[in-house]
Amino acid sequence: MAVSMVFIMGMLALVIDLGLAFLSTGEQQKAADAAVYSSGRLLPVPIGNTAKVNQIKNSAINYASLNGFEDLTQDDVILGKVRNGQYTEIKVIVDNSVPMYFAKIFGIDYLDLSRSAVAKLSPINRTTGVVPIGLTKEEIESRIANNNLTHVTLKYGVHGGSTSFFGALDLDGQGGGASDYRIWISQGYAGEISVGDILLEESGNMVGPTYQGFDERYNACTHFGAQVGGSGCTAEDFEPSCPRIVKVPVYSFGTDKKTVVVEGFAAFLLENQTNDGYITGSFLNMVSNGASSGNNVGEGTEGDFGLYNLILSE
Ligand SMILES: [Zn+2]
Repeated sequence: MAVSMVFIMGMLALVIDLGLAFLSTGEQQKAADAAVYSSGRLLPVPIGNTAKVNQIKNSAINYASLNGFEDLTQDDVILGKVRNGQYTEIKVIVDNSVPMYFAKIFGIDYLDLSRSAVAKLSPINRTTGVVPIGLTKEEIESRIANNNLTHVTLKYGVHGGSTSFFGALDLDGQGGGASDYRIWISQGYAGEISVGDILLEESGNMVGPTYQGFDERYNACTHFGAQVGGSGCTAEDFEPSCPRIVKVPVYSFGTDKKTVVVEGFAAFLLENQTNDGYITGSFLNMVSNGASSGNNVGEGTEGDFGLYNLILSE
């Protein structure tokens, strides 16, 4: 009787300790998920840029700390999946030593538990807030191949066979005209646009509404001292939610010369414009809202033009 009581009490003690440990792993997992998801918005990060590497690692450490785990070091934050010289994935490991109460009888004082989370970038294939100016897949692919992405003109190109197409798109297919168009430029189109969607070309180059809409956006930047004489967001330092950054559709021409087919999305930071309809700026690699196929950056043949969402991948 006495011997079996000791055995039963021992088992009970272990069950209680393991139960407490199990509760801890739930908290660890939550902290790891929060850390990768919050800091992952700073991806992608150039591999040689120590300042940005430290920034994202410290951000992950900070979010883990806000979730109750204050002992993370930079070694617990691992950047990976390098594409085009940039990290596109972040992993955070949250370790914890859970003190044992009853298992001490058996000489076990602590149980070391480890939980981790991984978030990665994936190209966006469906999103809202797109502006009605795009560029061809051919053009952006050549820009990416030649690394000619900063301080460039978002072209108002006339394509073969048409003299009235300047790159402007009629996003709702209703032929809304200039006032719709200005709102789509300044605020982005409220509806969803997906890869594979067919959009109507807007005839005319919409110089007036484009100028007004972009002017509103440019002046609405509140980052990096923009409102007090500073530069505001630039290609080097920007806040991804900045109104100066527009989501532009990347398309190929339809067979009928009146429509285009959406191939993906790019992010473009407005830098300057002229009153005859030319816009200059820089293409960015960054995280935004939207849905993705789950593909890795640079994987497969379609749709990777620098606009990503962030997904938990483990
Ligand atoms: Zn800004």
